[in-house]
Amino acid sequence: MPIHEKNLIRPENLSKHDELVIEGVNVSGDWSTFIKSRVVSDYNEDLQEEIAALAGGEYIHRCWQCGSCTNSCTVNALNPDFNPRQWIYLVRMGFEAELIRDRDIIWQCVSCHKCTSACPRDVVPEAVMHAIGHWLEHKGYTPKRPSTVFDEVFSEQVIHTGKIEDGAVLLGFFLRTKQSLTQSWLVQMVKQLVLKFPVQMLMQMGWATVFHPKTSNWGSSRRAIEEFLQEKEAAVEKKLGPEQPYHEPDVPTNSVDAMKMAAE
Ligand code: SF4
Ligand code: SF4
Repeated sequence: MPIHEKNLIRPENLSKHDELVIEGVNVSGDWSTFIKSRVVSDYNEDLQEEIAALAGGEYIHRCWQCGSCTNSCTVNALNPDFNPRQWIYLVRMGFEAELIRDRDIIWQCVSCHKCTSACPRDVVPEAVMHAIGHWLEHKGYTPKRPSTVFDEVFSEQVIHTGKIEDGAVLLGFFLRTKQSLTQSWLVQMVKQLVLKFPVQMLMQMGWATVFHPKTSNWGSSRRAIEEFLQEKEAAVEKKLGPEQPYHEPDVPTNSVDAMKMAAE
C-alpha cells in the first residue's frame, strides 16, 4: 500500500546531503532527509464551504481521513498523484494554492464509484472530485472541460424536452466542442449502427435528432426545474462570487499524464 502522506510534501521541499557525518555517524543520502520549513499565509477559510455549495460537495465535512477512497481508487493505482483523500484534506484545511497545483490531475476521475462504495462516512468522494473540478472552472483556474460541456448538453435537452435522445446529445456535444463529425471511430460507429440496427429504430433516432420531440404536458415540469436551477445557481454565486473567465493561475501545475505512467 503506498504511503499517501508523501504526496503532502512537494519534492522541492525535501533536502538531503549526499555526504554528511554528524558526531561520527554517517547520515548521508536518505538518512539526512529534511523537510524544509514553510509558512502558509494564504488560507482560504471559506474553501470547504465553497466546495460544499457545489453539487456533490455537500458532505465533505464528514471526512475523517481514513484513506479508503484513495486506496480503492482506480486512477490512483495508475497515477499516485491522483489522491482524493489528499484533496479533501487540502479543501478542509483551506490550502487553496496546493489544490490549484493539481488542477490538471483532479479531472482524471473516471467516475467508477469505487471510492464512494468504500467510504465509511458517506462523503461521496467521487461527487466531491466533481465539485472540486467545477470549483476550478468557476474560479477560472481551468478551462471548461469536455465532461462539463457534455453534462450541459445532456441537461439542456432533458430540461427542454423531458426526453433523452442519444443522437441529439452526441451531435450537440460534438458541435459545441468543435469536434469533427468525420472522425474515423465515429464514422465506424455509425456504419455499425446502420448495419446492425433495425431500420425502423434508425429512422426514429434520426427523426428525434432533427425534430427534438417533447414529453406531453412537459411545460410546468420544465418551469419547476428551471426555477430550482436558478435558485441553486444564485446560491453558488453568492458563495463563490461570479463565474470567472479562464486565466492561467500563478501557481505552477503538477500535471501528470496518467495514461503515460500506466504505459511505462
Ligand atoms: S473514504 Fe471517506 S472518510 Fe475516508 S478519507 Fe475518503 S472521503 Fe474521507
Ligand atoms: S470515482 Fe474517481 S475518485 Fe472515486 S475511485 Fe473512481 S476514479 Fe477514483
